[in-house]
Amino acid sequence: MKSLGDAIAIRNRLLAQLEEAETECGAPNRDHLMTFVVAGGGFAGVETIAGMNDFVHQALKFYPHIPREKVRMILVHPGEVILPELSEKLGRYAERKLEERGVEIRRKTKVTCVTDTGVCLSDGTEIDAATIIWTAGTQPNPLLKSLPCKIEKGRVCVDEFLRVPGWPGVWAVGDCALVPDPSTGKFHPPTAQHAMRQGKRLARNLLSELRGSPKKAFSFKTLGQLASLGRRTGVANILGVNFSGFVAWWLWRTIYLSKLPRLEKKLRVAVDWTWDLIFSKDLVKFLTQKGVAISEGPVAEVSEESPPRLKAV
Ligand SMILES: Cc1cc2nc3c(=O)[nH]c(=O)nc-3n(C[C@H](O)[C@H](O)[C@H](O)COP(=O)(O)OP(=O)(O)OC[C@H]3O[C@@H](n4cnc5c(N)ncnc54)[C@H](O)[C@@H]3O)c2cc1C
Repeated sequence: MKSLGDAIAIRNRLLAQLEEAETECGAPNRDHLMTFVVAGGGFAGVETIAGMNDFVHQALKFYPHIPREKVRMILVHPGEVILPELSEKLGRYAERKLEERGVEIRRKTKVTCVTDTGVCLSDGTEIDAATIIWTAGTQPNPLLKSLPCKIEKGRVCVDEFLRVPGWPGVWAVGDCALVPDPSTGKFHPPTAQHAMRQGKRLARNLLSELRGSPKKAFSFKTLGQLASLGRRTGVANILGVNFSGFVAWWLWRTIYLSKLPRLEKKLRVAVDWTWDLIFSKDLVKFLTQKGVAISEGPVAEVSEESPPRLKAV
């Protein structure tokens, strides 16, 4: 689970599984189709399973042959408490909320293999599941390994000014860069909060380089972390203060809305989210494949029955 495209693919997958399970007569096959496993109980895993759980349960009213109890959402997490980046208290709160809504949490467990029919767990159990979503860590772009400069943890090493040592004129920022944090002696985490500020610092340092004025070291402390748990609940830690429930969910939405570029985009999303408060989820499947007539351009075969507009493509 990394990009918007992944989210759309998962959404389509959920609808496809519901469609198939609705017409499936064999109980074991239906169980297989209706079991969803998410590996990793960090921010991405928790938000993904919460969103999937809400989506599937809201869609069930259109699939009368699928009993509610047949839907299994399983979150596999190696630690004792989910959301380890937040406090234990918020992690427990998130667990309670998810479990109340039917999500099964497998704590102190890892996914050890993925098979054609499901997953194996480190506690020896095998789960028969048609869908598994991986959120247990993302890797830096593999292209970075081919670069001749110093690479650690898959990322390009830079100094505190964001320069690549030994390579004059080469700089790196964001997820691909390993940026030292002198205040902790460790490295800055790969988050958007950091990447955006590194971008600004880099622009200023480039100007300083051109003008021959002193450059400034990159320095920033994480402002906070937020996770949505669905159904207007969330958990957040902002500037060291914990929030949970509706307030955290509202903060999550407001903060992410404020981060969107341009007023027009903010308004579009705000209106869309307002409709979302009034109506139930839109269950229309987004088709992602290109139509033959469009992708093949003028050479596409057009049959007699095809509508005339296809001939013009
Ligand atoms: C599921 C998920 C949730 C997250 N949630 C948060 C959050 O709530 N808050 C937060 O602060 N951070 C969050 N992050 C982390 C955040 O997304 C990243 O830290 C941030 O996007 C890094 O920015 P970047 O510009 O370095 O890289 P990216 O945003 O990944 O941008 C890299 C760009 O380079 C392009 N690219 C890749 N290869 C090539 C190539 N060969 N040539 C040209 N272009 C290429 C990519 O298509 C992409 O557009 C989340 C990450 C994930 C995966």
